[in-house]
Amino acid sequence: MTIPAAPLDLTGDGPESWASAYELLNLAIGDDFARWEQQLAGTGNCANPVRLHSRIDAIDRATGEIATIYDTANEPGGVLRIPCGNRREHVCPACSEVYKGDARQIIRSGLTGGKGIPESVALHPCVFATLTAPGFGPVHTIRTGRGGRRLACRPRRDAHHRRCPHGRDISCNRHHREDDPRLGTPMCPDCYDYTGHVLFNALAPELWRRFTIYLPRQLARLARLTQRQLRREVRVRFVKVAEYQHRGVIHYHAVIRLDAPGDNHQTPPARYTAQLLHQAIRATVAAVGYDTAAVTGDDPPLRRILKFGTRPTSGLSARPAACPAPGRPCHRRRSRTTSPSTPPRPPAI
Ligand SMILES: [Zn+2]
Ligand SMILES: [Zn+2]
Ligand SMILES: [Zn+2]
Repeated sequence: MTIPAAPLDLTGDGPESWASAYELLNLAIGDDFARWEQQLAGTGNCANPVRLHSRIDAIDRATGEIATIYDTANEPGGVLRIPCGNRREHVCPACSEVYKGDARQIIRSGLTGGKGIPESVALHPCVFATLTAPGFGPVHTIRTGRGGRRLACRPRRDAHHRRCPHGRDISCNRHHREDDPRLGTPMCPDCYDYTGHVLFNALAPELWRRFTIYLPRQLARLARLTQRQLRREVRVRFVKVAEYQHRGVIHYHAVIRLDAPGDNHQTPPARYTAQLLHQAIRATVAAVGYDTAAVTGDDPPLRRILKFGTRPTSGLSARPAACPAPGRPCHRRRSRTTSPSTPPRPPAI
């Protein structure tokens, strides 16, 4: 069998770099196939590896002689491939899987100990909170009742009489499936507050930042301490996950834990309970807001006062995430994006 000696170009990023069957055969029988395979394995079989062109030179200080000790020109295709590291599964399944695994281990160690964290953290006050967006208008959704029973989307007995200002029926008796394209779409596009929706998504990180600043203040208020006294007794730590709901709005899941001050993750005084932390979170959600005037100006059609959702069932988990039993984790949850962090020190008032 004769194989045309077409030049093999696997260095590009676009479809023009896709190899033909002949090129792949050329690659498979080439001398550097093993090295090429080794490179791909080294990237974790990344879907879009970054291709590096470079070389490393070493200088002999005594003689000033320069010698090349590594050159990507000697690699298959003349490039060194490294993983893209993208978190998004649809961009790179391999790298996103690595990221998910790493994030899971970080969260797990924060709940049960391990990886340098003492196992006693499993006994610390800990709350799993969900901070949602407020409503911007009725949308098609999936509702579940007790025992996970699927409920109708938005049933209304008086649907024939009660219409939106644009005369549209804003009830829905359907039991939507997960893949229903209507999910998350407004029942009346003219009623839906798209401006508020866009502003919330854009400014949700700022709302979260304020939440992390206000939470110790609320904790100090409930503990009847000054903030300085609080800082001497307790430190708030959290890990958060940002997700999109069906309606395309960001919401946050956060595991929030109390430690003693310092970096060695010791247990805080006994008066700091999960219930107290839960109350502080609720009070903080109610207190945090952002006036978009700085971004949108005073223009009434655009200006909003952004807040997290306040409905108890959507604002926070119904129960404090006190550890179910000593030595067991408060929660186990897979996550896509995380930002383990300690809240910034509140600015001086
Ligand atoms: Zn990748
Ligand atoms: Zn519906
Ligand atoms: Zn309407």
